[in-house]
Amino acid sequence: METGKIRIDMGFPKPSAEYSGLKAITEPMGLVYGPISSRRLGLSLGVNLLGDKKICSYDCSYCELGPTENRMNELKQSEFFPTVAQIGESLRVKLREVTQESIALNNITISGNGEPTLHPEFDQCVDAILAARSDLVPEVPVVILTNGAHCDSRRVVQSLNLLNERIVKVDAGGDLVLKQFNRPLIRANVSKLTAGIRKLDNVIVQSLFVKGAYDNTKNEVLEEWMETIGIIKPKLVQIYTIARIPAESGIIKADEDTLYTIESRLKRKLQIDCAVYP
Ligand code: SF4
Repeated sequence: METGKIRIDMGFPKPSAEYSGLKAITEPMGLVYGPISSRRLGLSLGVNLLGDKKICSYDCSYCELGPTENRMNELKQSEFFPTVAQIGESLRVKLREVTQESIALNNITISGNGEPTLHPEFDQCVDAILAARSDLVPEVPVVILTNGAHCDSRRVVQSLNLLNERIVKVDAGGDLVLKQFNRPLIRANVSKLTAGIRKLDNVIVQSLFVKGAYDNTKNEVLEEWMETIGIIKPKLVQIYTIARIPAESGIIKADEDTLYTIESRLKRKLQIDCAVYP
């Protein structure tokens, strides 16, 4: 696939005026938070491996956590992150509470304040989370939301494949959209990302569509996105749009009709299972 050759004018959004209030809305959340109910995940307990500050390898223009301020070369220092013991113990405490209150969880979701696979001891975090789950709620699956950008690491892939579900962000099918929309802070291109994601078992893809200053619902953008989805061959594609104030102004929700049209185009072209969350 030729990538980056199509010139897509996605605009140059400015920092959102509403943004000054965003931190108060999205400020996380502790190491374990919820349970939170959502259409995509049901009733879910969240595990945040990243502490109080957003840490990510992308700086997506629509990110509801606000701009990414970390530098990638700082992240090997583990003082930025909660310890494996803190994460495991916090989860155990919360799972005991949930069990005592007879709350029926649909899953435990590793997500939170950025990209979870950036924790320097991600593999040990996964082991601690799985051990707590097995001891206290063995029937509850553990799911992760990831940007999929670190699947060039064998350790990351091995740990991701120990979980019950892997939900991976794939908004861009071409390098230009990736650069303008997800704005990676690492060296990334679509073919490298795709090769990494293909190492994951039974992967679910989630793809976000917006209009306005950025518009990734345009025909040429959708064509390259569908081509990339066809290479990844996920078991399910979740199509959704923004729910809260984005990091930059001028970005608006994709309307319901557009999301359902994308779903039917994808199904027709690739015969892949799809779900829309307008
Ligand atoms: S990958 Fe997720 S957390 Fe990171 S910038 Fe994008 S939307 Fe935000």
